Amino acid sequence: MTDQQITCDLLVVGSGLGGLATAITAAKSGLSVIIAEKEPLFGGTTARSGGFMWVPCSGPAQRAGIEDNLADARRYLEAETGNFFDAARVDAFLEHGAEAVEFFETQTELRFDVAAALPDYHAETPGGRTGGRPLGAQSYDGRALGAEIRRLRPPLREITVAGMMIGSSKDLPHFLNVLRSPRSFAYVARLMLRYGLDLVRYGRSMRLTNGNALVARLARSVFDLGIPLWTSAPVTQLLIEDGRVAGAVVTRDGSAVRVQARSGVVLATGGFPQNRALRARLFPHAPDGQAHWSPAPPGNTGDGLALGQSAGGHLMTDLPHAAAWVPVSLVPQPDGSGNPFPHFVDRGKPGMIAVAGRGKRFVNEGRSYHDFCQAMVSACAGAPETCAWLICDHPTLRRYGLGFAKPQPVPIGHLVRNGYLRRGATLADLAQETGLDPNTLAQTVARVNTDAASGVDTEFGRGTLAYNRYLGDPTVRPNSAFGPVQAGPFYAVKLVMGDLGTFAGLRTDAKARVIDADNQPVPGLYAVGNDAASIMGGNYPGGGITLGPALVFGFIAGRGIAADRQAERGARAV
Ligand SMILES: Cc1cc2nc3c(=O)[nH]c(=O)nc-3n(C[C@H](O)[C@H](O)[C@H](O)COP(=O)(O)OP(=O)(O)OC[C@H]3O[C@@H](n4cnc5c(N)ncnc54)[C@H](O)[C@@H]3O)c2cc1C
Repeated sequence: MTDQQITCDLLVVGSGLGGLATAITAAKSGLSVIIAEKEPLFGGTTARSGGFMWVPCSGPAQRAGIEDNLADARRYLEAETGNFFDAARVDAFLEHGAEAVEFFETQTELRFDVAAALPDYHAETPGGRTGGRPLGAQSYDGRALGAEIRRLRPPLREITVAGMMIGSSKDLPHFLNVLRSPRSFAYVARLMLRYGLDLVRYGRSMRLTNGNALVARLARSVFDLGIPLWTSAPVTQLLIEDGRVAGAVVTRDGSAVRVQARSGVVLATGGFPQNRALRARLFPHAPDGQAHWSPAPPGNTGDGLALGQSAGGHLMTDLPHAAAWVPVSLVPQPDGSGNPFPHFVDRGKPGMIAVAGRGKRFVNEGRSYHDFCQAMVSACAGAPETCAWLICDHPTLRRYGLGFAKPQPVPIGHLVRNGYLRRGATLADLAQETGLDPNTLAQTVARVNTDAASGVDTEFGRGTLAYNRYLGDPTVRPNSAFGPVQAGPFYAVKLVMGDLGTFAGLRTDAKARVIDADNQPVPGLYAVGNDAASIMGGNYPGGGITLGPALVFGFIAGRGIAADRQAERGARAV
């Protein structure tokens, strides 16, 4: 039963980057906005993310002296997306990217850092760049959120150090060098001290980084603008009046609230990584929907896609990859389950190799997580399970860590005891521990060690790509991205398939309007973030290619909807 009715200009469904960016832009342009978030915490996958946003030719990049131009960015996306190049949407994204960044930089709490050294993942492709297209959010003092910080979704615990957030660009290199450089030691000691004080005073880390800082900064602006951000408030149904989406039903405190939205509804529910039926339909490696582990939050069950379809929106499912793949290992939990740890960095360190099947390498391990997983699926074709083992020796593990196992001086014994890490005194022992064939593994490692001595990966060319070298270790010679596996004991961790968010989604146009099967906009309905089909054609061209478009299309949608409303008001006044 519907108990209550509320009217606003715009209802935004979901509080990740897509939703927050749209809501803020629309409110700044004069609309009254409500954000409804299904979960008790706001921030979605965005709050768990690295927070990188791929936006070529932004103001911060120009100020940092990055040489780039939109024609090259367009050429790059054209090459990366192939048959799925959507010129209208790509052009809208590129043309409004710098403008959107400037808007958030000058009108909101958001401040950007340029990832000047983070290359496009296929930087060698025409139009690719070796750095400067991804932007990160500057770290943020959580105290600025006051009591609201209790509603902010925390980062993925598995990628923190016992709850302390580590910034991907600035902090991580210091953590990896903590026992090698006095400067890094002092840096880490300062962070740990601050974390300790935060724990005593606030019971949590107040130095927010990555996606958590991104969400917290935007949330600060949401609260400053007086935008109601309802949590535990799932949208369950769209209201359609005279062929137009005119609002939605939201459940709040157990009651159904009818929200009338004069300018319509924006779907920003973050796609379907946690929807088992859609996974079974669209993830070929998981035909039962189960052999897949997503680090996305539990609420991302594809509600936006179902709501969009209920109003006539067309679901685009033909992209070559329905999600952004990432290899994950499962960190054992007391209840017997496993939490996914996404392997972004370790795979590319010298001395790490990945093997599948009987024990053969199958990929240049330092390629992007999306490419790595595609190779893993191919290597496991016909096998009962899609999985691989990431292997290294003792010095490599203690130098860089291995998945959830941290580098020296953090102890690792408990991770051997609980089965997360497999350990063998010899390679033959490790083969027994992992079920690999000892001879195949020995041959694989022998070839790796010969190649590592010469610095040439004769099998997969590791070290030849800009992204390999970014992930590598510049202090290692002769190949900074490729090293030997020789000094036992040896370790392995099992990799399985995961995702960072989904690519398949509602078809939208250059104004973020949801498009129906006849290619017509559904009046009053918009989709941003992962509810909109990705403009990347199922590919993963660079760090930040889901959050960059979420920011820019949020901006485009918010401004466009406000402009339409103003035009309507003007027309009525005449
Ligand atoms: C560990 C990790 C690192 C990542 N790093 C990066 C990175 O650096 N750069 C990058 O580009 N991408 C990254 N990603 C992917 C990125 O985080 C997501 O693609 C992005 O956050 C999706 O944003 P969104 O706004 O579409 O959805 P989300 O941020 O997931 O927000 C959607 C929200 O909608 C809510 N919702 C769902 N259903 C309803 C409903 N019925 N009613 C109301 N609310 C609802 C959800 O609860 C959720 O809070 C990473 C992902 C992970 C897991």
